[in-house]
Order: sequence, then C-alpha cells, then structure tokens
Amino acid sequence: MNHFELQGGELHCEDVSLAQIAAAVGTPVYVYSSATLERHFTVLREALVGVGLKDPLIAFAVKANPNLAVLRTLGRLGAGADTVSEGEIRRALAAGIPAERIVFSGVGKTEDEIAFALEAGVAEINVESEPELLLIDQVGRRLGRRAEVAFRVNPDVEAGGHAKIATGKAENKFGVSFQEAARLYANASNMAGVRPVGVACHIGSQITDLAPMRAAFLKMRGLVEQLRAEGLSVERLDLGGGLGVPYFNQPEPPAPAQYAAMIAEVTAGLDIQLAFEPGRMIAANAGVLVARALHVHERPEGRRFLVLDAAMNDLLRPAMYDAYHDIRPVTPRDGAPGPYDVVGPVCETGDTFTRDRALAPVEAGDLVAFMTAGAYGASMASEYNSRPLVPEVLVRGDEFAVVRPRPSYDEMLARELAAPWLGD
Ligand code: PLP
Repeated sequence: MNHFELQGGELHCEDVSLAQIAAAVGTPVYVYSSATLERHFTVLREALVGVGLKDPLIAFAVKANPNLAVLRTLGRLGAGADTVSEGEIRRALAAGIPAERIVFSGVGKTEDEIAFALEAGVAEINVESEPELLLIDQVGRRLGRRAEVAFRVNPDVEAGGHAKIATGKAENKFGVSFQEAARLYANASNMAGVRPVGVACHIGSQITDLAPMRAAFLKMRGLVEQLRAEGLSVERLDLGGGLGVPYFNQPEPPAPAQYAAMIAEVTAGLDIQLAFEPGRMIAANAGVLVARALHVHERPEGRRFLVLDAAMNDLLRPAMYDAYHDIRPVTPRDGAPGPYDVVGPVCETGDTFTRDRALAPVEAGDLVAFMTAGAYGASMASEYNSRPLVPEVLVRGDEFAVVRPRPSYDEMLARELAAPWLGD
C-alpha cells in the first residue's frame, strides 16, 4: 500500500497535490511519501517480530535512496543502514543513524574506507573476498582494533528480477565462495585485526519468489551450524535484502508476513541475531517521478511519441534493466487509452521509458507520474546531457519540503575548474 491516490480528480502524495509540487519546484521532480516509508518499515519490522524474531537489525540499503531526509525518516523509527561506500556511511551518520546500526558491504572497499568505517565504529564490515579480509586485518592491526566482520557468502543460488541485479550465483562478483567460507572464517578467528562475528548473504534484488531465498538461507543455516560445530562463534546472520515490490505488470511479490514466516522456519532454534538489508521494498512505492509532457509527436508511419521533460538521466531503470514503471496522468483526462512511446529528450535511443504503452490521453503541458520510483531512481540519476540533477521533495501529511534542490546552471558550471594552460 502507498499514499499516492486521486483526490478531487488529481493525483496526490498524501494530502499534497503533485500539481502543486510541480508548480512550486518545477519538473522533473521526485516526490516521496513519509507515511509510505514509515509504513513499509513498520510492516516489515512487525512481521519479523510477529514471528518471534528477537530484535532484528533492519539496515535500510542506502543505495536504494540515500536522501538524508529519507534516511532520517527511517532512522527515527529504528532503522539501521546497509552501506557500500564511505559516502554512504557518512550519509547514514549525518542522518543520525548510530554507527552500531550500520553495516558496511561492497566488493571493493579501499583501505581508507575500511579505516573510516573502523574509526566510526560501524557494527559490521561484510568481507567479500580473501584479499579484502587480509586488508581489513592489516588496517585493524594498524589502528589497534579488531574489526567485527561478517563473511558475505555467495550461496550459488539464482534469483533476482533481471540478470543485472542477480548477485547470488557463483559467476557473480559478490562474496566469498561457499566452499571457502569455513576456512576463511577459521583463519579470521586467529587474526589480530579482525573478529569474525557472523555470515551474510544477499542473492539479488526484485525477487518475487521465496523459493530461491529459502534455498540460500538454508545453506546459510547449514554454514552457521558447521562453523559452530568446529568450535567457532557465530553471533550474527545477515540475510540481505532483495524482496521485490509490485511494479504493476510483474508477479506479485510475497507479503512481508510470508517472508517473515519463511525466515522463522529456516532459522528456528538457531539462537542468532538476524540482520536484514531491505532497500526496494521500503522505498520503491514511497516515491514517484513527476514529469511534464513537452510534445506529443505523431509520425505518419503510426508511432506516437510522448516526449517528456524527464529522461534516462533522471530515471535510469528502464534504460538499464528494461524496468517497468506504471505511468499515470496527474490529472486524468477523459477518453479511450491509446498507445504511446514515452521518451525523454536525451540523445540516446535508450532514452525510452516504454513503447506502445496504452495510456489515457495525454497532451503537451500535462503532468505524468512514474510510479514505484522511490528506490534506485534519484540515487542513480546523473547530469548526462548537462541536465541539472533532478530535485527531491518529501511530503508529510499536507506539508512538503524540498529535500534536495535542483542545482542552477551557474552552480553546475562553478563545480569545474579551468586548467591553467587554457586561460579564462
Ligand atoms: N544488500 C546488498 C549487499 C545489496 O547489494 C543490495 C542491492 O543491490 C541490497 C542489500 C538491497 O536490495 P533490495 O533493494 O533489493 O532490497
């Protein structure tokens, strides 16, 4: 459930009309609903606690939506943060999320980033390879600390809505191999700069079937039992994120309650602290991208292009993953739906949001909303074609605030410096 509904013939975010935000901030613009963010977090936590899982760490995957206001909204409810760079750790800390609720993942952490994470006191660094283990140990010894690490294990299970977001197969770059995990864990327990506290896995994103997750989690349970049988201490099991969301034309994902029940079943009797790294399921349906129609361009051969002022640089997912986003008129007009190719102004054929989509009539000047755009939307945006970075707005009830303004052209140009030999 989300809080984007028609009120008085106009699409609203909670009690604010999207047209009002577009008039005040311009388009394109991302709009997030606080009530939806809060609801998704709370539903997940209640589902996990409801099946008897004690005090799970729910570390929101910052990459899904790193806006400080979004992080602060979730942090105030008790969310932690799953981070993959020093920048993301800094964001989580700046949003008031305590270090002891921050997890640091990622296949290529630099020495400086590891040192930063250790000094900040993050809860857990997820080790993704043997060379990285050695580097963390070295940094830990240099700083006189034992870094609490969890081994991100690649369980070799196929899952995820698209090949580019599947991470749990042996051919994917993520994590240490299942075969090596026990040896590495045992080695790590003898190192002075690290203290292994657990194991982690994250097998992909937009997963709409619990079966691969269950298969991977059962393997992880087996690993915990094997390590403990070898006399090693395993206090934490991090099960990653990945639960899908409804993008309207795709299989319905399992409900949080079904997900929680599966986890309770798989981890029954294990006596372990569980951690989760959800991103999409919390943020995706809490945000929309509002764009304005610039032209409706009809070709004699029969194609009808709806040219928007939003482009692939603002919402990359369709170009990158062939992702589907429902597109709704902000003020629906009467009339029969007809086919449109919805495109942006960027000079790439890939700047096509959808082809032959049946939409209610749209005219130049109308506003449309890309639904389910609150995750991996603004966070993947760029200034390609020198288009200003898309702004972000957070709504709460009948109020809204610009939480990332659109940069001016002067600000964009001022970020760059002339090389001395090029003159003014
Ligand atoms: N954890 C890790 C390590 C990830 O790489 C990702 C996404 O790629 C996530 C969590 C969040 O996944 P999702 O947004 O599908 O929940």
